[in-house]
Amino acid sequence: MQVMESEEEISTKEFVFALADGQLEKAFQMTSIDDSLKTILKQPKNEIILHFPVKLSDGKTKLFKGYRVQHSNILGPFKGGIRFHENVYLNECKALAAWMTWKCALQNVPFGGGKGGVKFNPANYSIEDQEHITRRFTHALGNNIGPEWDIPAPDLGTNSQIMDWMMDTYSNMVPAHEKQAKKGAVTGKSIVCGGSQGREEATGRGIVHCVTQWANENHLPLANATVAIQGYGNVGSNAAQILHRMGTKLVATGDHTGYWRCPEGFNPFKLSEYIEDNGNLEGYPGGEKVSRDDFFATECDIFIPAALELQIGEHEAKLMNCKVVAEGADGPTNLEGEQILADKDITVIPDILANSGGVVVSYYEWLQNKRSEMWDLEDVRSRLELRMKYTYQQASEKAREMRINLRTACYIIALERLQAVYERRGIWP
Ligand code: NAD
Repeated sequence: MQVMESEEEISTKEFVFALADGQLEKAFQMTSIDDSLKTILKQPKNEIILHFPVKLSDGKTKLFKGYRVQHSNILGPFKGGIRFHENVYLNECKALAAWMTWKCALQNVPFGGGKGGVKFNPANYSIEDQEHITRRFTHALGNNIGPEWDIPAPDLGTNSQIMDWMMDTYSNMVPAHEKQAKKGAVTGKSIVCGGSQGREEATGRGIVHCVTQWANENHLPLANATVAIQGYGNVGSNAAQILHRMGTKLVATGDHTGYWRCPEGFNPFKLSEYIEDNGNLEGYPGGEKVSRDDFFATECDIFIPAALELQIGEHEAKLMNCKVVAEGADGPTNLEGEQILADKDITVIPDILANSGGVVVSYYEWLQNKRSEMWDLEDVRSRLELRMKYTYQQASEKAREMRINLRTACYIIALERLQAVYERRGIWP
């Protein structure tokens, strides 16, 4: 069942889409993109809203609301994460889907942009109920996903187990002889179900490659550099652990339950173990518990937002005391926050570059599924490193040449790639 979303819900998250649109407008001002292409790219191709019933383990039936926004597929199948969160909204999915289009175009992977989710808090449901919700959502999506059409992946609140259930449900909806060929309908699966080595860590690892490039350019030795990370899920924890192995110190971190500081440096593996046992950081015994403002004001070299969008506004940017912000989350910095960071000479490595390691390795997973191959970890890691460094350098050169920030440089590279394809293919009929 496809339904309209209420006006109230649309306005609540309007500002996320306004941020994505504002960033796009800034880039348009710096490029000679055709007016008709601008009009096309400002809105997604398809917006799908689904209401689907699930019979829960308490015997009751509940109606859930799910979304899938398909922004562009001019470069390849729509591609993007599935979010399980009580605050998933249509306008948020629209912004996140557009960011996926720019991210894939920037990285030159043959995918377009998509994003979706289900509006619920998985922490309030048993594993059995989460499985039912995932399978019913996948069934409701039906032919709106597929390995050559639209390929979901993990995001906030989802993981490889959720992707395995999605893939299994989808492949049970096709004729038996096609099942094996449909594994690539979802990426971010577990290794045993056709996932790729290195996918789980890929977003965090990609951030670290960007930070390394930036540190080389700015002559900052990473050994003993200090780091603060907001959000300690897949992206935040992997970035923390890889940076720790390079000799950096994690001096502040936090999640939706609060923030902690430790000038001597946290052990990022202990933090992960604590979350494994307790579900989140609440009650973490190490370091000192601090306010959100104190967390943002922590003096450090590298700040990684890896939680939600719109976390760094004017207020937070004024507090911040770091040298570089590497955006692990999508859309964590609003336009006013970004201006203040620029005035303070703090570089922002934008989300579409910094967190693009995830979609790059999702592409490798999709390729392996298509070819029935299994690449080893070192192979995946070295391909990712080469691609992240190459793309970072392209963006950095463009930014220097045009005297613009890295975000606008990344948008321009992506938009020019999209424009080149539209110019050749035209609009049919
Ligand atoms: P996750 O669910 O594994 O972790 C999210 C973390 O953010 C958790 O620690 C959670 O407690 C914290 N958090 C949630 N709400 C918060 C709040 N209000 N304040 C502070 N912390 C809060 O999710 P993830 O996969 O690590 O994704 C994090 C971000 O990275 C999202 O913006 C996502 O879109 C983006 N991203 C993820 C991937 C990926 O491969 N997983 C790829 C690209 C971008």
